[in-house]
Amino acid sequence: MARYTGPVCRLCRREGTKLFLKGDRCMGPKCAIVKRPFIPGVHAHGRKKFSEYGIQLREKQKVKRAYGLLEKQFKGYYFRAIKVKGKTGEALLQFLERRLDNVVYRMGIGASRPQARQFVNHGHITVNGKTVDIPSYLVKAGDIISIKESKQSMQMYKDLRGAKVTMPKWLQFDFNKLSGSVLQLPERDDIDLNINEQLIVELYSR
Ligand code: SF4
Repeated sequence: MARYTGPVCRLCRREGTKLFLKGDRCMGPKCAIVKRPFIPGVHAHGRKKFSEYGIQLREKQKVKRAYGLLEKQFKGYYFRAIKVKGKTGEALLQFLERRLDNVVYRMGIGASRPQARQFVNHGHITVNGKTVDIPSYLVKAGDIISIKESKQSMQMYKDLRGAKVTMPKWLQFDFNKLSGSVLQLPERDDIDLNINEQLIVELYSR
């Protein structure tokens, strides 16, 4: 699947917010948005006011980039979300949160979503005992997510043993056993993104 391969810090600077795409670096003083808190490019200090469309577009771009998706994939989730009963914006976020790469990130196995996606792509993760190497795989309540046994001897996974990670209440992971589970499906309050998903719905409803 195609993906963005350019400089990721540029994406955060463009959106004016941390998208946490680089793991530990995002928490430190080397974070590009701390060092250069303005939009990249020659027009960085130009236009400051957004139209209504511009505001909706930026909100969509922010979410799309945080989850590392391309437009076609993102729109696909939107079309799935409008078929779900209830609030479309919340259903959209729930689909995104249920992606296996996001779950691996939220559990604290990967330091960022891009790293978590790499673990999945490389076949390091199992769901209910079977290797799943599809980052877009949607987890369900009750799924058991583990590090594949043959990979557990890798240093990066040995280093995880005994770790204490704060994770959302819908997930659980035992860092001694390197295995955890999806306790329930995520609710809006579990998703700590500072976004207004209604703006995305309005954008696509135009
Ligand atoms: Fe974004 Fe992380 Fe880069 Fe900071 S270090 S700009 S949060 S990807």
